[in-house]
Amino acid sequence: MNYKIVEKEGVQFVAFNPLEEMSFIKHGFSTRIGGVSKSNFTQLNLGRKTDDLPENIIENTKRFSTAVGVKFEDLVVSDQIHKDKIKVVTEEDRGKGFIKEMDFDSVDALITNSRGIPLITYFADCVPLYFVDPVKKAVGLAHAGWPGTVLKIGQKTVSKMQKEYQSKAEDIIVVIGPSIGICCYEVSEDVINKFNTDFTETSSFVVSKGGGKYMLDLWEANRIALKEIGVLDRNIIVSKICTGCNTDLFFSHRKENGNTGRMASIIQLV
Ligand SMILES: [Zn+2]
Repeated sequence: MNYKIVEKEGVQFVAFNPLEEMSFIKHGFSTRIGGVSKSNFTQLNLGRKTDDLPENIIENTKRFSTAVGVKFEDLVVSDQIHKDKIKVVTEEDRGKGFIKEMDFDSVDALITNSRGIPLITYFADCVPLYFVDPVKKAVGLAHAGWPGTVLKIGQKTVSKMQKEYQSKAEDIIVVIGPSIGICCYEVSEDVINKFNTDFTETSSFVVSKGGGKYMLDLWEANRIALKEIGVLDRNIIVSKICTGCNTDLFFSHRKENGNTGRMASIIQLV
């Protein structure tokens, strides 16, 4: 296992061992344990776009931020639409989302080299990608559902870090966090056709079930896209936690028929 479940004041979150070893960052991936939400949002729903009470989202987000060790007031939030726009977060963005109004939208990835600014992105089965450049001291998060994976948002985030921070692909560490595994992710032919267009080969991450149905491995597809741009195999850490198999610990859009809460990724340079 390359992760552990950390519990702080009743809030449980996932910490990834390779990132835990880096003293210059704080990070975490939330579970559903330790919040105030009820019914299908039980307990730690962080989804700002869900039908949960706004005060619950704020309380839950405060609890998760505190557990991870970042300031709620400083959070910069994403506005995910399954596309590939990446926002470069700077000091002037500090607090945009909860404390300050957002003056940006349609952003599925955030990167920064500013210290003390926690980035947050949201998930329930889609793939969370964490990026750390330990040399240039830059971090990022991306949201890769199947559309973002087809768009190779992970690769584009690395490319943006190269452009903005002069990062080298071979220095960047990427963690592929808890999300739906191939065990639970059946898709139809139209989805696979999109992958066939944008990936040179799909045999390592698509398994046909017959009848126009396929099992799709988003972890492997993301890994391939990251390798294409030069991220080293040994620097791609796949947590291999399936949200669909673990609904006691995670919200799963697929397993709970869309009627569920959201987890979040946080990363921050100390
Ligand atoms: Zn599964």
